[in-house]
Amino acid sequence: MKVPDNLVKAILKARSFLIVIHINPDGDALGSALALARVLKKHMGREVTLLNNDPIPQVYRFLPGWEDFSHTLPQTTPDVLILLDCGEVERTGFKNLPGKLKLVVDHHLTKQNFGDIKWGISDASSTGEMVFNLIHALGAPLDKDTALCLYTAIVTDTGGFRYSSTSPSSFRAAAELLEAGVSPWNVTENIYESISSERMALMGKALNGLKRNGEVAVISVTDSMYKETGTSAEDTENFANLARSIKGVEVAVFLRQIGPDSFKVSMRSKGRVNVAAIAEAMGGGGHHNAAGGLMKGRLNEVEKKVTTMVKDALGSRKPE
Ligand code: 5GP
Ligand code: MN
Repeated sequence: MKVPDNLVKAILKARSFLIVIHINPDGDALGSALALARVLKKHMGREVTLLNNDPIPQVYRFLPGWEDFSHTLPQTTPDVLILLDCGEVERTGFKNLPGKLKLVVDHHLTKQNFGDIKWGISDASSTGEMVFNLIHALGAPLDKDTALCLYTAIVTDTGGFRYSSTSPSSFRAAAELLEAGVSPWNVTENIYESISSERMALMGKALNGLKRNGEVAVISVTDSMYKETGTSAEDTENFANLARSIKGVEVAVFLRQIGPDSFKVSMRSKGRVNVAAIAEAMGGGGHHNAAGGLMKGRLNEVEKKVTTMVKDALGSRKPE
């Protein structure tokens, strides 16, 4: 993976940085940002502010430095703003992000409309893998905590090295991160083997309500389900993947209530349909196999509408 020279030069020249990630931050966004911030601060003596617009999910609070995220715009303008794991300002939940020079490091398919220097590799496994290469290009060392953040980023965005975006270079990066001291089981235990009983109960309810329509499966979580189980939105991570794992399901949709008549849509494809295109039609975006957006309406209406959109996409796909 070649890191653009102008990106490396711009970072080496700057003294102060603002690193911003997307709303509903995931392991890739958090791990990448924490790794880059640590290297810039600890090994390169730079000033770094980390910014995001949501509380850090409990599950990622084992990552060293997670408390360093601020949630309000800084008063001063940094030399460099870095948008990480997203290419659009709208995805950060902020307006008027300050920065004398604006950089983007991202691996999403969605068109990027932002940045003086954009480094986008849509087939990279993760932003974490890109940041791993960036750190090497900057000539900085990989300490154990940086490696832990990057390994978490890569593991979560590749679904544990299972997705098609996983490449030989992802495994090479992972090997180096283990050599730097990462314990894979420690990461696994923190992320995948620490499900609360409440979350498990919510999962049961969601799966119980699964609606199957040919190659499409839809599961939903409503406000009343959160209440009944004592859970919240962050307990729904990966619910979309659960529905996709059913044999014969080509696309899974997960609807999460975010307002009286408003739902966050998460879609997962097994590969034949580009769900990023469906998401873009609802003003969202993402990757070929994982994308999301928002839809307004009653649950039943949204279920129907999104099922129709997915069915249309399945129908119009090219024969294999
Ligand atoms: P998830 O379904 O896990 O929320 O997101 C899956 C993928 O789609 C992620 O890469 C995420 O960045 C992207 N995505 C989810 N929701 C949105 C959205 O509303 N807008 C855009 N542009 N991307 C989204
Ligand atoms: Mn990512």
